[in-house]
Amino acid sequence: MGENKKIILTGDRPTGKLHVGHYVGSLKRRVELQNSGEYDEIYIMIADAQALTDNADNPQKVRDNILEVALDYLSVGIDPAKSNILIQSYVSELTELSFYYMNLVTVSRLQRNPTVKAEIQMRNFETSIPVGFFTYPISQAADITAFEATAVPAGEDQMPMVEQTKEIVHKFNSVYGETLVDPQILLPSNKVCLRLPGIDGKAKMSKSLGNCIYLSEPEAEVKKKIMSMFTDPDHIRIEDPGKLEGNMVFTYLDAFCRQEHFAEYLPEYANLDELKEHYKRGGLGDVKVKKFLNNVVQEELRPIRAKRAEYEKNMDEVYEILKKGSEAAKEKAAVTLSKVKAAMKINYFDGQGIRL
Ligand code: ATP
Ligand code: MG
Repeated sequence: MGENKKIILTGDRPTGKLHVGHYVGSLKRRVELQNSGEYDEIYIMIADAQALTDNADNPQKVRDNILEVALDYLSVGIDPAKSNILIQSYVSELTELSFYYMNLVTVSRLQRNPTVKAEIQMRNFETSIPVGFFTYPISQAADITAFEATAVPAGEDQMPMVEQTKEIVHKFNSVYGETLVDPQILLPSNKVCLRLPGIDGKAKMSKSLGNCIYLSEPEAEVKKKIMSMFTDPDHIRIEDPGKLEGNMVFTYLDAFCRQEHFAEYLPEYANLDELKEHYKRGGLGDVKVKKFLNNVVQEELRPIRAKRAEYEKNMDEVYEILKKGSEAAKEKAAVTLSKVKAAMKINYFDGQGIRL
């Protein structure tokens, strides 16, 4: 077992640039936790091996997005002096752990995982699910336990993964003796940030669906997306009463807007409740609310863009950060793997002799 350290493991798949759903669902929290000074070790993983489970025929996409995701991390404030940014496939110990954990999970348990079910449907995999994709919750358990993570800051779609991990931890520890650390998920406290919908309002904002506002997108592009966002289709004339449910502009305001934004950009309202009331009553047009949302989101993204531009001029440094983080991660995972192998009695050549 770990020595009661507080350790974070979290990560993202390099299947595209990171979007504002990642930001409110996980990235922002990671930076706060990182800067709280409460954690002894932080591992932030670019999950290329997992990305390949449903992109096996497109390795170039995965490779290209490693740097994009790394730049996104650095630009939101992940600090390589405090957090290890690592590339999953470099830590080959993770695949070894996955192989042993596979013995502790049933096929029917994997079939019941609601996130995997939804993702299979979304990718039209029903009749041809790659085995690697089907078993990715097991590989996520390897990721979390390899670093002895106590905390996993993530969005709501990761709850079944952390549940699966906890089951593996309990099973492993009861069969082989106390070895693995039991993790907890840290969900965003703001409800809309648990699973931010895409700009079309149809599904979770997701790299694979192209319904995103990306963190690195130029100001004009972001504005264009916000101005064309899905609102209330029955709110046709300004004087019509408007609905808030399913209205993405208000959903995003719930996620991004702070009290002080009103004084700065929309002083005729004191707060978001007043704005919502006016919209529901009628007499408030979509364009005005969208312009306000645009100001709020741009204020959040501006410093991120600026920081990204700095790092983009310095890609050698980004490469070194990834290399250092991956090496540190590999060292940590190797320690866990040797504990696991000892617990499983498959540590034949570690100096104890081979009398079985
Ligand atoms: P993909 O479509 O490739 O699965 P994704 O957009 O779902 O990409 P992931 O890399 O799978 O992104 O998710 C990384 C992290 O971001 C996870 O912790 C996940 O919970 C969180 N996250 C992803 N999308 C959202 C969202 N729309 N709202 C809140 N959190 C999110
Ligand atoms: Mg996902």
